[in-house]
Order: sequence, then C-alpha cells, then structure tokens
Amino acid sequence: MRGVRHIALLAGPLVLGGSIAPAWSCANPYALGVSRVLQIDARAMPLVSSHDYGFSLPLAPGEVVLTFDDGPVAPYTNAVLRALADQCVRATFFMVGREANANPALVRQIRAAGHTIGTHTQSHLLYRMPADRAAREINAGIASVGAALSTPRALAPFFRFPGLFRTTEAERYLRSRGLISWSVDVDS
Ligand SMILES: [Zn+2]
Repeated sequence: MRGVRHIALLAGPLVLGGSIAPAWSCANPYALGVSRVLQIDARAMPLVSSHDYGFSLPLAPGEVVLTFDDGPVAPYTNAVLRALADQCVRATFFMVGREANANPALVRQIRAAGHTIGTHTQSHLLYRMPADRAAREINAGIASVGAALSTPRALAPFFRFPGLFRTTEAERYLRSRGLISWSVDVDS
C-alpha cells in the first residue's frame, strides 16, 4: 500500500457550507492519510464512475476514492470505521434508509468521524425499478438518513443504485433533484 494516497470526497460548498475543514490531525505517522479533498458539483458532474458512465473523477496517479455501501450495520461498520481511523482516511458511505432508521447513532458516528454520507435507497431492492418506485425509494432513503443526522445539510447529494441497477429514467430523476449518480470504477 506504500505510495497509495486516498482522497476524501466532500459535497459541494452549497451542501456542506465549508463546515468541514480538511485540517485533520493524524497520530499515526505511517498512515495512508488523505491527499486532498475533491468538491463535486452535481450540475457539472451528475453521473460519475467508469463502470457505467465511462467517465470518472480527475484523480492523480496513486489516488483512490473509498466508498462503502449498504450500512450502517454493527459490528461491520464499526470495524470499517476503526480501520479508516487507524489510517487517517476519510471515505464516503452510501447508506440504506432502513439501516439508518435502525442505527441512527451509527449514522451520526460516521458523520462525526468526518466521512461523507450519501444514500443507497430505502430498501435496497435488487432490480431495475420502474420510475415511480425508484423515486419513492430514493426519496425515502434520503428522508431516513437525513432524519438520523441532526443536520440534514450534512447529507451529501450523492446516490448509488443498489447492485448498480440503474435506469435512464431514474438517473434523470436524480439529476432533476440535484443528486449525483455514483457507479464504480472497481467493484470489490
Ligand atoms: Zn448495496
């Protein structure tokens, strides 16, 4: 892992209002750390990642963006948080609404650790949803995760389709709401 650098992704300034400064201290002198913070504008970049869109972030050689889907669920998310903290790395979590409802304290813990929070629908249905169902799932997921955060503005306008089951209609809906559809560059 030597030489690998990580970047943290933060939402655009309209969402976070500059409330998080990337001036993080790190007790581990050998940590991977964060090389820089990218701010993503949903209007300029509504679709991101090479797997589905053939287009990715302007990363420098050695830079990696870490994202985690489906939680938060103890004890797995806690283990991820410990590993990230050990390496002084910030990541982006695409959370499922029903999991946020069940684990609101964990949602806030992730936020307090300086990570970025996006959403991943309410119920994590693994098929290409009709447009009306997709909109309901998107909105319910945002409402649930936002409710777990004491400051809804802490929620980034970032969304990922469960199983990457995207549709053009749902992508159009995300865009109309000012949300970014994140696919992946590399699947775990
Ligand atoms: Zn998922």
